[in-house]
Amino acid sequence: MIDLIQIYTGDITLLKVDAIVNAANSSLLGGGGVDGAIHRAAGRELLAECRTLQGCATGDAKITKGYHLPAKFVIHTVGPVWHGGNHGEEELLKSCYRRSLEVGEANGCRSIAFPAISTGIYGYPKEKAAKAAVEAMKEYFAEHQESVIEDVILVSFDAGTEQLYLELL
Ligand code: ADP
Repeated sequence: MIDLIQIYTGDITLLKVDAIVNAANSSLLGGGGVDGAIHRAAGRELLAECRTLQGCATGDAKITKGYHLPAKFVIHTVGPVWHGGNHGEEELLKSCYRRSLEVGEANGCRSIAFPAISTGIYGYPKEKAAKAAVEAMKEYFAEHQESVIEDVILVSFDAGTEQLYLELL
């Protein structure tokens, strides 16, 4: 059962948790931003495993091992690209958080850390994204009272995002 949602500001690749979530693209073959940082820190083995997964749909999530990361697993999820907000972006973003928790839970993860999915290259407004993230978490844990997940960490990479999470939690 979840105690509380924590906030951490810094590099997600340093966290020794059961799983870190990657804001990947649908090819799962690496990219910039947090995706690039995770692949660099995990090593080439991660890319090799990702090649076997045949991509991932927007809003869905797939799991791999963490290889050279302190985290045991990487949960790769594909956030929506922001197209103004009337293209199902909010539902897709919430689905990323929900599916990542489901996949983590199915693999026995007790601690999971999330970057601010879609708020970099994909252009999702940071405040709206933070709201959707916190809402999706609250909904998930309301529906999964018996969850094995004990710690969820929302990782911010800038002071602005940290402030948004602090206000929402
Ligand atoms: P997307 O394509 O989903 O927008 P990005 O990687 O461009 O993904 O950005 C998602 C968020 O991850 C951004 O808020 C960015 O500041 C943050 N970020 C980038 N590198 C890291 C890192 N090493 N650790 C945690 N967060 C990161």
